[in-house]
Amino acid sequence: MFHLIDQIATLTDQRDRVALDRALVRVLTKLLEPISMTLYMVMHDANDQRWLPQIVLRRGSAVEVNDPMHADFRLLERIENDTPRQRCLEVNLPVVEQAEGLDGDCLTCLPLFAGHDIGETGVIEIRSIARLDPLALASIERVLRIYRNMHSMFMYSERDALTGLLNRKSFEETFYRSLREDRAADTVVDAGAQSDAHLQRRRVRLGEQFWLAMIDVDHFKQVNDQFGHQIGDEVLILVGRILKTTFRGYDRVYRFGGEEFVVLLRCPDHAAALLTVERFRRKMEQYRFPQAGNITASAGLSSIGASDAPDVVCNRADQAVYYAKRHGRNRVCSYDDLVQQGLLREDVRDGGVELF
Ligand code: GH3
Ligand code: MG
Ligand code: MG
Repeated sequence: MFHLIDQIATLTDQRDRVALDRALVRVLTKLLEPISMTLYMVMHDANDQRWLPQIVLRRGSAVEVNDPMHADFRLLERIENDTPRQRCLEVNLPVVEQAEGLDGDCLTCLPLFAGHDIGETGVIEIRSIARLDPLALASIERVLRIYRNMHSMFMYSERDALTGLLNRKSFEETFYRSLREDRAADTVVDAGAQSDAHLQRRRVRLGEQFWLAMIDVDHFKQVNDQFGHQIGDEVLILVGRILKTTFRGYDRVYRFGGEEFVVLLRCPDHAAALLTVERFRRKMEQYRFPQAGNITASAGLSSIGASDAPDVVCNRADQAVYYAKRHGRNRVCSYDDLVQQGLLREDVRDGGVELF
């Protein structure tokens, strides 16, 4: 027998975002026994918004989890106007849209973060045989309220208060969760359900390449000294915005502390990664900050190998930033390039790097 309180306890037991999203879909499935349920998140790039089916649960199948960092943006469904999901997003209120599905099923869409402006948007879509009755809808709302409270708690602990970017504390966890093939694979399908589709996805992932860019604002101390700390803070907020709009929805942007930022990038090759970071550098260079005027940034890029620990990759990117700072600032340097060109040399004895 279904106990709402048990299900609420399940939700509040969760210790991270992915687990919470999964628990939400599980709890609602127990409550409603639908044909299928999908938690969609909105992903964007410069011109497009698309749906990522982050958690999918079909009757009789295992839970499917799609990590945003592994999603192929071009293959995702575009957000079309006047569809139940899009209408649900547009009003961003706890309003239920019901429509006839393709095969006569009922489709119910609920905004995941109704009324909460958290910089993330999503919709939960429920496909059922019959229309959900008001009692069921009221129960979903109750469950969603708890989900939203839990969600904002996680947001609060993983985000930087000034810029709203991910904080350093969450970096290591995301690094492993997103980039390690073995770990990521565990989260895709529940144990015991190693389907062909799953194996296929793993194979596709093996071709993925990840990069880490470390970005440091140039002469930021001077900004503080000349205009005061408050203007300095405003500059940091705006740099955060430029970062968010430059990189794709599946790239992860962190504020590491002070005027230092890190981006985990998924790009097909070194040239593409370098170009993306260079695009950010140019945007910074061209942007006129209110009061403070022109401010530039230096960046260091490093590839991420399958067995690299986060501190090793950060250290490499840091060396490239250091090189950029010593060679005029307002530039992007790649650790891999510098080593190849003999401009940086790895010191095998202590793992340090020698500059020329
Ligand atoms: P470089 O080009 O070599 O990076 O020079 P820089 O002045 O940017 O670097 P430095 O590390 O000397 O100074 C960083 C400054 O950032 C020092 C500190 O006052 C300032 N800072 C750190 N955190 C914050 C913050 O949260 N808000 C503001 N306004 N300033 C901060
Ligand atoms: Mg610095
Ligand atoms: Mg600096």
